[in-house]
Amino acid sequence: MNEFFLLKEGEIALKGLNKKLFEGVLIRNVKSAISELGGGNVSASQSVIRVIPNDDPDAVFERLKKVFGVQSICRCKKAEKDFDDICRVAGEFFAENFTKGMRFKVEAKRSDKKFPMDSLEIMRELGGYLLENFPDSVVDVKKPEFILTVEIRGDFAYIHKGNEQAAGGLPVGTSGTALVLLSGGIDSPVAAYMIAKRGVKISAIHFEAPPYTSERAKLKVKSLAEKITPYCGSIDFYCVPFTEIQEKLRDNIFEEYFTIIMRRLMIEISNRIADKYGIMSLVTGESIGQVASQTMGALQCSDAVANIPIFRPVIGMDKTEITDIARKIDTFEISSLPFEDCCTIFTPKHPKTRPVLKEVERIQAEFDFEPLIQKAVENTTFEKIN
Ligand code: ATP
Ligand code: MG
Repeated sequence: MNEFFLLKEGEIALKGLNKKLFEGVLIRNVKSAISELGGGNVSASQSVIRVIPNDDPDAVFERLKKVFGVQSICRCKKAEKDFDDICRVAGEFFAENFTKGMRFKVEAKRSDKKFPMDSLEIMRELGGYLLENFPDSVVDVKKPEFILTVEIRGDFAYIHKGNEQAAGGLPVGTSGTALVLLSGGIDSPVAAYMIAKRGVKISAIHFEAPPYTSERAKLKVKSLAEKITPYCGSIDFYCVPFTEIQEKLRDNIFEEYFTIIMRRLMIEISNRIADKYGIMSLVTGESIGQVASQTMGALQCSDAVANIPIFRPVIGMDKTEITDIARKIDTFEISSLPFEDCCTIFTPKHPKTRPVLKEVERIQAEFDFEPLIQKAVENTTFEKIN
């Protein structure tokens, strides 16, 4: 394959003594990302990772753009260090990018000084060659639409059109673990994406309440999890049967407190699952003030039942900002499918927006939820989403 990719590491390059560790995880993630696309040769030197795909470079390129820890990607073609071969490969590359009347410029860098032509000569001669072979193009050194770069390096001549932005962030697996409370909505998949972007390895937990919630609603959540795996890697998916708890809440708890106590129970169960599997934190898609259960007071009531940190990556974002990211990561359409969620069944008309923690604790303590919590944890199902 004469095509390959140079991945720039971005933030990892600043990690000092830990750099090797971060780079090791990134290389592992890159290899695993491309494994189902035929794999390839992956090597690193001087904060740049080189990937030579075994086949389907287009698919590999798109896939690599989603690997966290990669700042930018340069898609290159390789030519022999011989001017005729450079012209041949540059011509092919030019043809792939050509549009009628295209204004272009050639840039050259020669780090191998033994190459007989200097940079200026390469630019001039190659520019002339391309112009001759593509009479519908125009050389424009001031405002080119397309810049073709030739780099004469130690091993080969590299031909490319510069760097394209990639996913950024830190390699997944370098910043601990989190259990994301994943609903079928717009916000929680975005929250999952955002925490994974900082290098956190995520698992997901979903609460279902059959027969009030359908199998299709659960499938929707699983396809959301699947959608974010190119960014997050494979996801351990836990599904909690929540029906009995919700029925007990509905039958016993004063409407006003239904949502807040339900959310505390969700956190409590998530926390126990996290403890059981050694997961270090919880993540939700809450945004302050978005709905009654997301006021400062309500969040305080949820936080009070957790003994591990709860992260809320979209806490300060407007719905439109969250939606923009959902579109970018392609979860928006699935999230918009109209299925019920366990949070929306039995929803009271007037939930408490300013719950007082002591009061909530007092009301909740009147009922013994412990056996149902234990049962829900025991009956939680697990599957791996790739
Ligand atoms: P989203 O848009 O992500 O569905 P939402 O706006 O519907 O969130 P809520 O229903 O109040 O808001 O839920 C807030 C957060 O609680 C969600 O972002 C998610 O993290 C979690 N959550 C809600 N329902 C569930 C569920 N059935 N299973 C797991 N987590 C849930
Ligand atoms: Mg929401």
